[in-house]
Amino acid sequence: MNTPIDTAPARLLRKVRGTATSDGAGVRLTRVIGGHELPDLDPFLLLDEFGTDRAEDYIAGFPSHPHRGFETVTYMLDGRMRHRDNHGNEGLLTPGSVQWMTAGRGLVHSEMPEQESGRMRGFQLWVNLPARDKMTAPRYQEFAPERIPVVQPAPGVAVKVIAGRVGDTVGPIVQPATDPLYLDVALEPGTAWAYALPDGHNAFAYVFEGAVTVGEGEDARALESREMGVLGGGGALSLRAGGGGARLILVAGTPLREPVARHGPFVMNTRQELMQAFVDFQEGRF
Ligand code: FE
Repeated sequence: MNTPIDTAPARLLRKVRGTATSDGAGVRLTRVIGGHELPDLDPFLLLDEFGTDRAEDYIAGFPSHPHRGFETVTYMLDGRMRHRDNHGNEGLLTPGSVQWMTAGRGLVHSEMPEQESGRMRGFQLWVNLPARDKMTAPRYQEFAPERIPVVQPAPGVAVKVIAGRVGDTVGPIVQPATDPLYLDVALEPGTAWAYALPDGHNAFAYVFEGAVTVGEGEDARALESREMGVLGGGGALSLRAGGGGARLILVAGTPLREPVARHGPFVMNTRQELMQAFVDFQEGRF
């Protein structure tokens, strides 16, 4: 059980609605972090939600592109995505699976849908790396749904623990630098759950089905489907589902508090490192 700790309860500080955009070869998505409304939430640099029934919104996928200096986390809800990189790594992301890719010093990869019809739905989150880890060797942590533990911490509440801890259950992802929490929380209509957010982390909740009330009493605020709430205040986070139930991701990480020099798929600490990333990529050193 996750016993609420005795500090001020966590509150919804701010609501963010994503902005419709497209990326890759024209994949339609909603940018929640990384747009003008919320450029970042240290250590999180970007959150995209993709969700559509229309093949033309995703079929062109994300052809060959580089990354350096951070991690990309893909969590698939529906649909299948084929992943390939220039180091010979390849994998198929199936519904419910997660890929936590540490780009480190760099790789070039493609992420292409492996279906021509039906629903494609999921999230991509970018997590920054501290200066000491930016040039680390690329690494994958990839887990099929059966390897992601599911717990029921309260009646009518089911939580997939991708990263972090719920009670005694620990998610499979390991990343000491940012100590991430990544939960997929499903609440049946009218149910509630209180969860003690990790101390000192930045945290957010993004509702992708239904609606929840965040906080208790005077601090209680509603969060509707496709709204993200930036959370603060430390202690126990109280979530209560509306009449239609709710599904959300709850994500937290240790802020790095380092300078960010960022352009497109490169995220470094200084402008000089950023320039070097372009040169290294152009000269084939990824
Ligand atoms: Fe990518």
